[in-house]
Amino acid sequence: MFKMNRELLQSTLRELDQAVYNHEQWYKELIRSVVCGLPHDQREFSEDAHRNCRFGQWYYTMIPSELHEHPSYLSLEAEHTLMHRLASKLLVASMNSESVSSMDYDNFASALDRLRLNISSLKHEIEETLYKRDPLTGVRNRVSMLSDLRYVHEMVKRHTQDVTIAIMDIDHFKNVNDSYGHPIGDKVLSAVAEFLMQHTRPYDKVYRYGGEEFLVCMCNTDIETASDVLERLREELSHFTAVAEKGVPLSVSASFGVSSLEGGSSVDEAIIRADEALYISKRSGRNRVTVWDSSMHTDLN
Ligand code: GH3
Ligand code: MG
Ligand code: MG
Repeated sequence: MFKMNRELLQSTLRELDQAVYNHEQWYKELIRSVVCGLPHDQREFSEDAHRNCRFGQWYYTMIPSELHEHPSYLSLEAEHTLMHRLASKLLVASMNSESVSSMDYDNFASALDRLRLNISSLKHEIEETLYKRDPLTGVRNRVSMLSDLRYVHEMVKRHTQDVTIAIMDIDHFKNVNDSYGHPIGDKVLSAVAEFLMQHTRPYDKVYRYGGEEFLVCMCNTDIETASDVLERLREELSHFTAVAEKGVPLSVSASFGVSSLEGGSSVDEAIIRADEALYISKRSGRNRVTVWDSSMHTDLN
């Protein structure tokens, strides 16, 4: 999943499709000129042919910086560069009126197949991100929340990591809608979600749990560390200007309920506990973080 908004994901997907189309055109031209013994473009022989082709231009200059560290993006570079090197070997043979060796052709063809596989996988990840994102806020939607939580719950059961979850509910959000209207309410929600994404670590997952409620899943984080992180986040959020309406800064606060995923109890129980702790935050004045404890009595039976 990429931490990119919907528009950026969509435009990246469109540009990727265009770059792939251009690359397919390049491939057809290459095969045509080798098979028919036509003159070749000298740029194909240069060291940086992979940078000058239209796919390379997209890869090196147009792709959003949010993708730069992503494994799918990084693995494309080596495959694409190698494929161009192997292509220029075919061209050299053809230019010298020699027949292309089957080994050279097979190497080229497999490099091209691997490149195509890498591109499909990047495309698939972008599409999956789009499918799993909430359209209004850009955070993960509820569709994948339970299955993701059940997946990390398995790690907890095997004692391989601590996982803490938090439910965050914006305080008096109804007042925002009532005072400024629903469209401004939507803007505030998006700004708060963006704030959450920016203030959590790349491996923390943020879901839109309900209307103005978000669930944060923090892997490899014990409950003490998580509550410190959330306390800082709560404090910063309460000073954050979500939107400026007619020149007036509009801020919101939020309340949090925190619980840990336990090997001996279910994911649903952890969510209920976080909800109970959230209820305590609300009841004791809002704009606070409450960690669930057994005095809050969850009894599912
Ligand atoms: P509390 O501090 O107790 O949480 O008060 P609250 O007003 O936030 O809680 P309440 O549950 O009464 O109201 C939640 C509000 O959130 C009501 C609903 O209209 C608003 N809301 C939920 N989803 C959206 C949305 O997508 N856009 C907008 N603009 N408002 C939404
Ligand atoms: Mg609510
Ligand atoms: Mg609320």
